[in-house]
Amino acid sequence: MAGMKSSMDSIRKAGYKLTPQRRAVYELIRSCGCLMSADEISKALGGSVNLVSVYRTLKLFEKIGLVFREKTEGVNRYYIDAIQHHHIVCRECGYTRCLPCSHSFGNIKGFSDISHTLVLTGLCNRCAGK
Ligand SMILES: [Zn+2]
Ligand SMILES: [Zn+2]
Ligand SMILES: [Zn+2]
Repeated sequence: MAGMKSSMDSIRKAGYKLTPQRRAVYELIRSCGCLMSADEISKALGGSVNLVSVYRTLKLFEKIGLVFREKTEGVNRYYIDAIQHHHIVCRECGYTRCLPCSHSFGNIKGFSDISHTLVLTGLCNRCAGK
């Protein structure tokens, strides 16, 4: 789901340095599919970027609109895409699939900077024994 708007250039355009750590975190989320938690990112990077730095990096990425955050099983997970999408998660095994977002709320009077989250849960075919 590569998009033109979401790229590592956004880091520099937002006035931040593209450090090797930031680049590593970005490339990992991009290549590892979709949702990743800070913990999973730190582990996947083999400890080369510690957890605190991963948290900080993700916070920055979210601030500049480079990643979207979604909470599954009480854990914040992040994904990179040009536009927001949603997920359905198997409540038995955690298998996750991406779903397009077709929600548009337009302007809501009295609010700005509006975002929404939606996580669907279900049983995947494997866990349902199908
Ligand atoms: Zn399952
Ligand atoms: Zn996804
Ligand atoms: Zn949506």
